[in-house]
Amino acid sequence: MINKQAEETDKIIEFNGQKIHTSIFTQGFVPGCDMKICGGQCCDCGVYMDKDFRNVILEHKEVIKEVMSPQQIKDESQWFDEEIIEDDDFPSGYAAGSNVFVDNIDREKCVFMDDNHYCSLQVAAMKMGLHKWAIKPTHCILYPVTLMGGVIMFDDEHSDNLLYCGIHEKQNFSQSVLEGTQEEIKYVFGEDMLNFLNDYYKKNFAPKYSIETAQKVDRRIYPNPENSSEPEVHNKLGEQ
Ligand code: SF4
Ligand code: SF4
Repeated sequence: MINKQAEETDKIIEFNGQKIHTSIFTQGFVPGCDMKICGGQCCDCGVYMDKDFRNVILEHKEVIKEVMSPQQIKDESQWFDEEIIEDDDFPSGYAAGSNVFVDNIDREKCVFMDDNHYCSLQVAAMKMGLHKWAIKPTHCILYPVTLMGGVIMFDDEHSDNLLYCGIHEKQNFSQSVLEGTQEEIKYVFGEDMLNFLNDYYKKNFAPKYSIETAQKVDRRIYPNPENSSEPEVHNKLGEQ
């Protein structure tokens, strides 16, 4: 007999031609991104962005360098992978990766992550008075949601090894991925999409699936940021 619940958690729905996988309704997520707990671990391997988005970042390179920590790489020629890959999930059809570097606690992480585990792109945007996500790659904004093969879905692959919010850390979950990414989905896909997803969730999932209640978590993954007076800038591949 087909397991009805498994069927519902592994289904693709559609809104205005955009496909959405139901994993965003059933996967749990933490109460919020907290750098003091997770250290922005989702940023450790850098991120793919549209190859043309590199120019958006480079337009603001001076401010980005100003907000970077001393040990971050200030040479912009080292900010991105040389390799460009074909990927239809990006508007140009091609993606470029941000580079990684090893910091002074031997941690490999995205070139744009500072000593406080904040994303320098977001810190720079805020300093310039722009929207906090104006120069941040879309995949960073959306995480733990992603767009893969044209489908909006929970990024289970990247989540596999994350020690605070990862797919195996159920004891830390307090809400669904959809509930935890309302602002992000609205920013990237628009209010109509968000409203559709919320309605669908309320009708089909909220009554049936309950996410385990979060315990009080104080399990630090990385050392605390030294400068706690900085504005809190989460990462979510660095969020606020
Ligand atoms: S998504 Fe990233 S910033 Fe948010 S809790 Fe997970 S590791 Fe931390
Ligand atoms: S949020 Fe910023 S630090 Fe994190 S992966 Fe994206 S660009 Fe890098």
